[in-house]
Amino acid sequence: MQSPHVTTRPVILWFRRDLRLQDNPALNRAIEAERPVLPVFILDEGAERLLGGAARWWLDKSLRALASNLEARGSRLILRRGDSLSVLQGLITETGAEALFLNRSFEPAGFERDADIAYALQADGVSCHGFNGSLLCPPGSVLNGSGQPYKVFTPFMKALLGKFEPPAGLEPPARIVTPQIASDGLDEWGLHPRRPDWSGGFDWTPGEAGALDNLSAFINGGLKTYSHGRDIPGRANTSRLSPHLHWGEISPWRAVREAREAAVQGRVPAAEAEKFVAEIVWRDFSTHLLHHFPFIESRAFRAEYDAMPWRDDPAALEAWRRGQTGYPLVDAGMRQLWATGWMHNRVRMVVASFLVKHLMIDWREGEAWFWDTLVDADLASNVQNWQWVAGSGADAAPYFRIFNPTAQGQKFDGDGAYVRRWVPELCRLPDKWIQAPWTAPTEILRDAGVRLGDTYPRPVVDHDVARARALNALKAVSGRG
Ligand code: FAD
Repeated sequence: MQSPHVTTRPVILWFRRDLRLQDNPALNRAIEAERPVLPVFILDEGAERLLGGAARWWLDKSLRALASNLEARGSRLILRRGDSLSVLQGLITETGAEALFLNRSFEPAGFERDADIAYALQADGVSCHGFNGSLLCPPGSVLNGSGQPYKVFTPFMKALLGKFEPPAGLEPPARIVTPQIASDGLDEWGLHPRRPDWSGGFDWTPGEAGALDNLSAFINGGLKTYSHGRDIPGRANTSRLSPHLHWGEISPWRAVREAREAAVQGRVPAAEAEKFVAEIVWRDFSTHLLHHFPFIESRAFRAEYDAMPWRDDPAALEAWRRGQTGYPLVDAGMRQLWATGWMHNRVRMVVASFLVKHLMIDWREGEAWFWDTLVDADLASNVQNWQWVAGSGADAAPYFRIFNPTAQGQKFDGDGAYVRRWVPELCRLPDKWIQAPWTAPTEILRDAGVRLGDTYPRPVVDHDVARARALNALKAVSGRG
């Protein structure tokens, strides 16, 4: 409970990718300052990479949820738009605010912006207080024996989990005193898509309550069989926490803590909980890599891979984007992405490999499409995973790993549940042919109502030909040719 003896000079609580009240170190420390608190969100479209369409959809709803949580505590979310430093300086002039509290950004552009802002505000006599609210631990806090960043995941994970334990949870204050000042209206920001509104299939509840509901549903459901079930795209076996974690609607330590508590209470096997924890560590690993090697946003971590002879093939790229490649698992994934703003991890790997290796289209094209269409679009995770698939990343898949989309479908979607859901024109094909309709006998296709090249495309490339082409190129650039 905030003390009633607050002085009138407020402090600013700058929300960014920490859109929650629980487990929010910046909020709790701002309250301890015993001043009125001005919770602010700034839409700054110049400082970092412009948000994609699906992320804008999410942000719109997440801000509404945060605003109503603040209102329930007697406070109010102030929305402003523009250059962050100018907006903050304007707020300081307007309200006499004497300090800024924030959870820090560790992506390269945000990190630099925060440093510039802290420098400028401190020069004006406004103190700045930064915390880690988004990662298990801040970049730089887990280094190898030579004091260098880890480039391989497993030793990074061991070092991180050996050094850090989940911190105790932080409860938000019951009341937050906020001065009355003007705010933009969220509708004016136009974050929700119009003309056309393509978000009809977005089945999400952005915001802190939605995040906590997802976590508890997962712990009571998918977590019990996570390590195997997480690879089956037709099953709801994963947490679907990625967009919530991206926007900081839940702290990653909270997810770790609850999974481990469920294991201690015997509600889930410990090995399943730790597999889930390892995935959360991948998220940290991605951000640490991007922080230490910022060039990987646009260039290969292994420089030799930038010599790949990428093909310029707009028709193939468009077929991939629209889920019209003729490979059912790839098409199902790309359509799930378009319809819901999310795609299952196993299928992300398959579609990414298909673009980069079968079609030999630059991973940056795929990264850009994901960036625009994923509700969980996250610069570090996206870039790291695309480079992992392309073979050019720090701890990447070996260059010769070329997913066979048909075999992947047969292995992980053997009953075709996922393909039937997202590629309905194939739904009447028997399991045996659903992952490779071009191999089905004519009468089977006819009975299923499939006319290749008409109701469903023929494969845009032949797997064996594409595989050989990619292997030759990859061998040459990686120096194994
Ligand atoms: P769960 O299996 O429940 O995992 C729990 C959490 O761990 C996830 O929410 C996520 O925060 C983290 N996580 C899991 N796998 C990974 C991983 N491989 N890398 C980093 N973090 C991971 N994830 C994003 O959050 N944003 C992206 O932009 C993104 N782009 C990707 C691009 C490609 C080409 C690939 C192959 C993967 C990408 N991923 C990305 C990682 C992964 O696919 C998603 O995090 C995962 O599918 C989210 O579903 P979930 O929350 O149910 O995952």
